[in-house]
Amino acid sequence: MPALLEADPDRIASAARRVMARCDELARVTAMPGGIERVYLSPEHARVNRLAAEWMRELGMRTRQDAAGNQIGRLDRIVGDRLDPDAPALVIGSHLDTVPDAGRFDGIAGVLIGLEIARLLRVPIGDGRFGVPLPFAIEVIAFSDEEGTRFGKALLGSSAVAGLWADDWWALTDAAGTSLRQAFLEFGLDPARIGEAARRPDELVGYLEAHIEQGPELHRRGEALAVVSSIASARRFQLVVEGEARHAGGTPYDMRRDALLGASEAALAVERICREEHHIIGTVGQLEAFPGAVNIVPGEARFSLDLRGEFDGERDRVWDALTRDLDAIMGRRGLRWHAREVHNAAAVMCAPLLQDVVREGIVGAGSSGGDEPPVIFSRAGHDGMSIGAIADVGMLFLRNPDGISHHPDEAVSASDVALGIRALADSVLHLAADRRS
Ligand SMILES: [Zn+2]
Repeated sequence: MPALLEADPDRIASAARRVMARCDELARVTAMPGGIERVYLSPEHARVNRLAAEWMRELGMRTRQDAAGNQIGRLDRIVGDRLDPDAPALVIGSHLDTVPDAGRFDGIAGVLIGLEIARLLRVPIGDGRFGVPLPFAIEVIAFSDEEGTRFGKALLGSSAVAGLWADDWWALTDAAGTSLRQAFLEFGLDPARIGEAARRPDELVGYLEAHIEQGPELHRRGEALAVVSSIASARRFQLVVEGEARHAGGTPYDMRRDALLGASEAALAVERICREEHHIIGTVGQLEAFPGAVNIVPGEARFSLDLRGEFDGERDRVWDALTRDLDAIMGRRGLRWHAREVHNAAAVMCAPLLQDVVREGIVGAGSSGGDEPPVIFSRAGHDGMSIGAIADVGMLFLRNPDGISHHPDEAVSASDVALGIRALADSVLHLAADRRS
């Protein structure tokens, strides 16, 4: 299907330049000297929300900051010569918060691309007012907390919008001991009103997000854009291996029950088994030995495991295979082991219709040379994981040269951003055409 978007290339190129310039501008709003760090409910969060609100108002959007500190801009649907303030909205969003010493595009580029799509699709209706001639309204949401940097809990902003806020989160504290409740009050938000941030499914047509890929897949394939099929979710475990602490000099090898060696072999088993299953990725990111002295054979070892896959079933089968391997390893070494699951969430599948319109948008943008664009799953978490509870989710990835992310070297090119803007704007028009038919 041909592209539906009629926009001249100069207009798209200048939209991409504006996205790049604004990524630079937002990067200067930071709590970290010489780097980028912008966390939930901080003075920097307030400043980027004010900037985003200003940019939204320039486009003729109605703006508000919701009860969880998310910044929202809305272009109403045009019906006849009027605006319909109550029409369900297609949400285009991503997040403005960052990890410590972050790059400048993760999340941020997606919000700014959303604003450029609003700019391309808006139409004046007189009195300086703008709307969209579509069967739905367009909302751009800049989510306030995706990374979970400050309170150790990710997706706080989008969880509030999805109505998934849990009461026990109020007691979460940051590194300075400030509770989430206290931080709300200091930011000027009322914890008692958090429920007002929640949206009903019937208010939403769907959710689209453009995000830089946080891996090298597109770069390796020589492609600028991809359709995202699903957002993988991790299962996380804390594992403990128990052996016997003894004198490092006096204990011969045949008497040792070295817990650290058992844990090390387990970490290698994670790598081996996950490499055999190319859709599964497992990481041991923490490993500690106890009592932790240079002259004692470790009597206990603790390590973490993060396991992700495109499909929950595959991921769970890998965990089962791993447990059998661990039984064998520990049995051979005279060790005991146990695991506690600390996190388990289902993968979010992108809706088939939204995958379709994103694919049509990418084909129309010409980034795949007219061929079928790549379809990849996201190994990283995104706001769509919580929004999936109330709306269909679709995502588009932009090439990230070298694939590095959560790092100052994170990158995306202006020409790929231009392709992304064109593709996602066209996706919106395909969705509109689908809803009209
Ligand atoms: Zn992100």
